[in-house]
Amino acid sequence: MKLLDGKEVSEKIKEEITWESALFFEEHGRQPHLVAILVGHDGGSETYVASKMRNCEKVGFASTNLRYEEDITERELIDKIKELNADETVDGIIVQLPLPAHIDPEKITEAIDYRKDVDGFHPINLGRMMRNLPCYIPATPYGILLMLDYYKIDTTGMHAVVVGRSNIVGSPMSVLLARNTVPGNCTVTLTHSRTKNLQEEVLRADLVIAAIGKKNFITADMVKEGAIVIDVGINREKSDKTKSGYKLYGDVDFDHVAPKTSYISPVPGGVGLMTIVGLLKNTLLAAKKEVYP
Ligand code: NDP
Repeated sequence: MKLLDGKEVSEKIKEEITWESALFFEEHGRQPHLVAILVGHDGGSETYVASKMRNCEKVGFASTNLRYEEDITERELIDKIKELNADETVDGIIVQLPLPAHIDPEKITEAIDYRKDVDGFHPINLGRMMRNLPCYIPATPYGILLMLDYYKIDTTGMHAVVVGRSNIVGSPMSVLLARNTVPGNCTVTLTHSRTKNLQEEVLRADLVIAAIGKKNFITADMVKEGAIVIDVGINREKSDKTKSGYKLYGDVDFDHVAPKTSYISPVPGGVGLMTIVGLLKNTLLAAKKEVYP
């Protein structure tokens, strides 16, 4: 078993981004600039946004965190996004999910100019991804591709089973793994809560992507000997043993599954760190206008 070490990979790629960011500054006299909008006070969201901002600083990007209370209206939020769309000093815009129930996340996603949609959630970016055209790939699947690439894992011909079909992880991941690209060229099965015989499906996988949101859901009896297992799950539980007061668990029962695998990503220290790298890479692409000149 070999660990897919998100810390090692992300540090390496962030070094490259830092170098490119410095070149961008030399050429343009300003830093690549990411704006993150955070509504309300969800503990997980606060942590994710703080980490994104911290990482921007590390690689030499400018970052702005715009915070609003839960009672902001949908209209007010869309107006703010329109302002940012028109602001030439802003390269990337992300809105941290989840949003309060009175705000439609689809409307917010579509309000962002697709050329600044560095989360890759806008229908134009998702549509272009389907057609294998230049686009911003959603940050988590992008991070997973970068990880597979770093470890030179040739996925060609593999049977990949993705568990979970969300718009931000499972669905785009299934499309990306099926494309005629490297990594890619897998035969993909996309599974979800209505899948019959989930265990049988996962047992057939050479590559398992677990994106469910349930602690230790993928158990050793679901995984084939020698499979590659990538754990996207982030399940936060209160703990008095950590400084933060929380402990993170993946969707995979790591201790029992790991001995059966050829490669496995841990939680924490795996996909979470790669998601941030995906976001930073998209922001750099946006600043350089490489996807949409
Ligand atoms: P969603 O809640 O949007 O989707 C969960 C998916 O899992 C759904 O498709 C659901 O099926 C499926 N599912 C739920 N229960 C079962 C079951 N019993 N059997 C099979 N499938 C099931 O989650 P996300 O994709 O947003 O996130 C998944 C996990 O990944 C979470 O822990 C989240 O915190 C984490 N995450 C981590 C990121 C990172 O950077 N590492 C980034 C984003 C998310 P159905 O569609 O039928 O309801």
